[in-house]
Amino acid sequence: MTRTTPPRPLDITGVFPELTGLARTAFRLHPVPGEPTVHDSSVGGPLLWPADEPWPECETAPIPHWEANALRDIHLRRALLARSSAPPHGPGEVLTEEERETLRRINAGLDHESLPSGPQPMIPLAQLYARDVPGLAFPEGTDLLQVLWATTYVSSRDSHPVQLRWRRRVEVRDVLVAPPEPAYVAVEDLVPVPCVLHPEAVREFPPYQCLDEDLAARLLAWGKQRSRDTYWQDLSVVPGWKAGGWPTHFTFRDPPEPDSDELRCPDCAGPVDALLTVDSSEWDSGTSWIPLEYAEGAERPPEQPYGRLFDPTEVTVGRGYSLQVYYCVGTPSHVPALIMQ
Ligand SMILES: [Zn+2]
Repeated sequence: MTRTTPPRPLDITGVFPELTGLARTAFRLHPVPGEPTVHDSSVGGPLLWPADEPWPECETAPIPHWEANALRDIHLRRALLARSSAPPHGPGEVLTEEERETLRRINAGLDHESLPSGPQPMIPLAQLYARDVPGLAFPEGTDLLQVLWATTYVSSRDSHPVQLRWRRRVEVRDVLVAPPEPAYVAVEDLVPVPCVLHPEAVREFPPYQCLDEDLAARLLAWGKQRSRDTYWQDLSVVPGWKAGGWPTHFTFRDPPEPDSDELRCPDCAGPVDALLTVDSSEWDSGTSWIPLEYAEGAERPPEQPYGRLFDPTEVTVGRGYSLQVYYCVGTPSHVPALIMQ
């Protein structure tokens, strides 16, 4: 089943014609919990990874003082909780005694004494085949993008918790069957539920921080005359997980100055641009972006029988912010820049 973004409340280029040339295509990914394979585009799914290529590792944050769990236990607990909360049952009603015991074991966490220090394998964040996101900035000769990250806090530019791989699909002959997993997960909120994707091309206009000051001020003033900041909320950048398009809005902090190091490639200091937006929810209440298939009164899509429609990945960035992944425009294989914004 496809996902369809409702038409925008108005065509902003009719009010501000100078925006016309600034439109970009973004791909809403519309993740849905499922069982993606290495041959599918996915969030949190298995990667088409060459068997003879080392799996990336990342220095981990200090061992957490809270409960740490193995990756597979996090997935198991989520699956049990999702199933037990599926209608018509209430939480816990359909679990067997054995399953409840499993939950108790997982909730108790791993023995901290047993946790190793040092680098740990990263986990898949997203995999995108060019056929699903046509027009995304794939370097010449590549048709597969893989994004991996570490389940640590994204706090400094000194550690690089995200890595990119741009590949040519046909060149991966022997696929790695059992990728290594981290011994423990530091931040469960950074582990995506494996999701299949329903990419949808949408038209975006620049967020305020990417406009010249005069135009941004006029758009803001125009929005203030209306009951809400329509440009920000309805007309510029889509909420939720997306690929390409414009960078997402800055919410809890100010954008960096245009010449700031934050908006430069960590490897070569060259220009960067929006590649992938990891969002804590697909939409907020009162938004105009809810897909038509999820509109009030619409039947819940059969492939998504439980869980929250606005939070399919269960990823939360900071206190519900977005993480914008910026790729190096000159050399896309460089380490990406990351900004929680
Ligand atoms: Zn670079």
